[in-house]
Amino acid sequence: MNTLENPRPRRYSGDLALGLKDQIINQDLDAIRKSIDPSAFQGKGVLVSGGSGFLGSWICDTLIGLDSRIICLDNLSTGVFENIDHLKTVKSFKFERADVCTYSKNPKVDMVFHLASRPAPEDYQKHPVETALASATGTDRMLDLARKNDARVFYASSSEAYGDPEVFPTPESYEGKVDPLGPRSCYEEGKRFGEALCKAYHDQYGLDVRIARLFNSYGPRLRAEGLYGRVISRFILQALRGDDITVFGDGSQTRSFSYVTDTVSASLLFMGLDRSSEMVLNIGMKEENNIRDLAERIKAIAVSDSSVRFLPLPAGDHMRRLPDTARMERLLGWSPSLRLETGLDRTLRWFRSQKP
Ligand code: UDP
Repeated sequence: MNTLENPRPRRYSGDLALGLKDQIINQDLDAIRKSIDPSAFQGKGVLVSGGSGFLGSWICDTLIGLDSRIICLDNLSTGVFENIDHLKTVKSFKFERADVCTYSKNPKVDMVFHLASRPAPEDYQKHPVETALASATGTDRMLDLARKNDARVFYASSSEAYGDPEVFPTPESYEGKVDPLGPRSCYEEGKRFGEALCKAYHDQYGLDVRIARLFNSYGPRLRAEGLYGRVISRFILQALRGDDITVFGDGSQTRSFSYVTDTVSASLLFMGLDRSSEMVLNIGMKEENNIRDLAERIKAIAVSDSSVRFLPLPAGDHMRRLPDTARMERLLGWSPSLRLETGLDRTLRWFRSQKP
């Protein structure tokens, strides 16, 4: 038996501070819980693939606080056990270290959140086969498990399903512009195939699938180091250490950044709908920020002496990303609210509070 699995089961006390000892995360979890109707999740059995990753662990934390029973599935290839360490002794939480592609059990669940993936561009380009298969074989396994249970499915797709888009803001109806042999194809085409498979299960078996095209999200627990680092967490760590802040290209490329509370609230609102008139939804902020400005903002918030160093733009990097959020606002009756300054400040304070 895996030694990480539930050594001392106990009931969850309802105290979100339990073991987390982290004020910022607890406040953020409270904000997420306040934004959603708990009844959709109370008493529900939920499997979260990629549950030890950045967004997966936030979903586990939120749902445990809403009295769901969680199976957290993760092979720890990019997820980190520390993200869910505080939950391992909670009775309604079970961690299973397993690969989503070869997971052979069929536990009884009401919902499946499929987030298992390798989302960092430098990392997934080093592991293109595992990346493509997590979206293909892994999605098939999760859909098959859901079908056996007649469970509802949340598929974490990505803004990268649009590839290098030419329409801004980008609506869900845009088909995308993707090179199947490009440097990012294992992720982009992987996510697109995962979506196609979700639709196939829906059309053939009537499975209730919800596809979320998640735009760049950030916040506490986003990995910062080495190949796993995403732009905001990496810049924050560089600023805190006084290292050069590494801007790729001239930094004129843009992204829209959504703080983790907004991404998780929207995801759970989408999954909480009794019936959804839409299968696919953009989840993101309709604010566009360029990377050069982002570097300067983080440097200023951190009061850092770091210099900004310009490095070559990686092949296949995208120049713009901006979601059309009209469908999200209409379907959920909600829109993201946390401003970038606030989110950066919270993320920076969280990183600062970590051990060096
Ligand atoms: N980026 C950068 N420096 C870094 C890491 C990323 O300038 O050290 C840029 C990258 O070129 C991209 C943007 O920041 O245009 C977002 O990168 P990230 O890796 O977070 O994810 P992406 O949105 O490209 O999937």
